[in-house]
Amino acid sequence: MQEGLVIRSTGSWYEVMSEDKQIYQCRLRGKFKIKGLKVTNPIAVGDRVKYQVEDVAANTGIIQEILPRENYIIRKSVQKAAYGHMLAANIDQAILLVTLAFPRTSLGFIDRFLVTAESFRIPSRIVFNKADLLDEEALEIQQEIATIYENIGYPCLLTSVVNKQGIEAFQNILTNKKSLLAGHSGVGKSSLVNLIAPGLQLRTSEVSTFANKGVHTTTFAEMFEIAENTYIIDTPGIKELGLIDIEKEELSHFFPEMRKMLGQCKFYNCTHVHEPGCAVIEAVVNEQIAQSRYESYLSMLDDTDNRR
Ligand code: GDP
Ligand code: ZN
Repeated sequence: MQEGLVIRSTGSWYEVMSEDKQIYQCRLRGKFKIKGLKVTNPIAVGDRVKYQVEDVAANTGIIQEILPRENYIIRKSVQKAAYGHMLAANIDQAILLVTLAFPRTSLGFIDRFLVTAESFRIPSRIVFNKADLLDEEALEIQQEIATIYENIGYPCLLTSVVNKQGIEAFQNILTNKKSLLAGHSGVGKSSLVNLIAPGLQLRTSEVSTFANKGVHTTTFAEMFEIAENTYIIDTPGIKELGLIDIEKEELSHFFPEMRKMLGQCKFYNCTHVHEPGCAVIEAVVNEQIAQSRYESYLSMLDDTDNRR
């Protein structure tokens, strides 16, 4: 049996890269499940699998075993509650590419993304692109925002494709990792990646089609090896993947700066909205927790209400 890495999937076929970089078209044998949730596809890009070569000449094989995962992201089906769709597994980091102008990425969007990544136990960082378009005042604002996130534990980087600013640093961030690249359409994902891996065609700009009629075809992620042991996971639209499942009482666990304060509020199940003796509210007042982060928290809390 051989071990390999799933780099593409179409639902019934999986492209597996062997240790010597051969690509095998593999099928699945047997039934695989993810705890509690039926999945339309039990294997995703990033999975390490054991497979039996079926036809040496045709490079086909049969997957026998999925090796334990570090993490995975799954999108719940809008149509069928108990169903989910695996997007990717074993992700080392999520890189959220944002722009403060042209187009403007809102802090609310950033925070939602980070919460989603936290819920999937994926470390995140933020790359601010199009630095060349920011004047001095805007650069100061960018710095302030970056400081907020750096202090929470999300590393930030300022880049410009036009000025070639921060490109080497961006490359270093990617090295030896499987990175999920996300961000609104137009922030420069393709441009940035193209500087590093010329010719690579990302599909990240595609709008998610999962909501319309449950079409799965374009929601399959793909993984590209852009350098030795360095992969970019390209997945169409992953915003708000995980919020569906987060309970009101646990939402603050996905805000690292609030998670740190666990147990400091007067009530153990404090939702940090109006409760007396709330350590989080106190920290917001004392500016230890950023106002914008708290507002994002409240807004997401509202969403958990509306789900019921
Ligand atoms: P994607 O949708 O995230 O893949 O974004 P693209 O890479 O297609 O970029 C969208 C537009 O922004 C294109 O017109 C790029 O030329 C432009 N762009 C990308 N990066 C930069 C940058 O750093 N500065 C400026 N001024 N424009 C950029
Ligand atoms: Zn509280």
